[in-house]
Amino acid sequence: MTVKKVTVVAGEDAAPEAMESSVELLDKMGLGIEWIWPLVGNEATARGLPPFPEEARAQIDAADATFFGATSGPTVPVLFYLRWGKETYANVRPTRWIPGFRSSLAKPQGIDLVIIRENLEDAYVLIEGEVADLAPLNLTSLTTQKKAHELGEGKFAVKIITRKRSEEVLRFGFDLARRRKAEGFPGKITVSAKWNMLFQTDGLFVTVARELSPEYPDISLETLIVDDFAHRLVSNPHSFDVVVLPNLYGDILSDAAAGLAGGLGLAASGCYGRDYAYFESVHGTAPDIAGKGIINPTASLLSAVLMLDYLGYSQASKSLREAIETVYREGRKLTPDQGGKSSTREFCAAVWGKLK
Ligand code: ATP
Repeated sequence: MTVKKVTVVAGEDAAPEAMESSVELLDKMGLGIEWIWPLVGNEATARGLPPFPEEARAQIDAADATFFGATSGPTVPVLFYLRWGKETYANVRPTRWIPGFRSSLAKPQGIDLVIIRENLEDAYVLIEGEVADLAPLNLTSLTTQKKAHELGEGKFAVKIITRKRSEEVLRFGFDLARRRKAEGFPGKITVSAKWNMLFQTDGLFVTVARELSPEYPDISLETLIVDDFAHRLVSNPHSFDVVVLPNLYGDILSDAAAGLAGGLGLAASGCYGRDYAYFESVHGTAPDIAGKGIINPTASLLSAVLMLDYLGYSQASKSLREAIETVYREGRKLTPDQGGKSSTREFCAAVWGKLK
């Protein structure tokens, strides 16, 4: 196999503590991956460079994937490039309970679902402004029957759902449900949005799902209004297999799903485009525990499990996942968020102990 190159962007606050320990462990696995640490964020500005220098961008472009920590601001331009520059449209966030995960549920056994969040549009096109500036458009609000610009002093945000992006991410969902079905999952995709209010935008999203459905006769399509989905996610998470959501709902509800399984310290994600992918934990930079050496690296390591699979190291991916699961099953070397007393490094050493 040719040597794979991975750019690592550790991020800020406590995130680098999780990332450095994770990369150290991954490196010890001896896969021959070349790890490249571009100079970005605070380290770049401290040397008089912009936060996202051209060289860093070239390194990301030349890599097979990027492993990203979490950002509180300085590395946001990198994240924006990875997402919108590389058009990584499908944000895949698995929620799988394994014994030892500190879940809030009495019966978390068997929770194994994947939320796919459309990653590029919806409210995240970030077009906001003054309500008064809407005057030239002469828009009428369907609910108030008033002109949009006459609703009062305030701000607006634009929500855009395109057919192209909806089709891309929904197809990704159908294909994933099919691959999981081959592994014994039920072969079901749930598509959820608020089309009973947002007839046009969310309406388009669900329409595209229904249009694609006949191409996947082996996969059953369930469509749920998003408030109903939120309720079922909490009351019966076991009923879901693959779920596809527009960006904003997906952002919020995948964090909720992470909470069900045992918290943000455990939640991984991979963002996939047509020819690039990056992998990052769902959590933020955990500033409250920065410098303490106790951030749970499980989210980073489980993101690395997805990354190894993407890069073609499927056996190593499986071994790493199993090693993490064993450490949780034994429950002796867990970080404080999971009720343990171990440090980030001690947890990684325990995982390495199971891999050797
Ligand atoms: P963002 O808005 O960027 O998602 P946030 O400040 O809302 O960030 P986090 O940084 O994820 O959220 O932190 C929320 C809480 O969860 C904090 O108390 C933090 O310490 C905790 N937390 C997050 N990730 C981890 C982790 N990997 N290990 C332990 N605790 C974590």
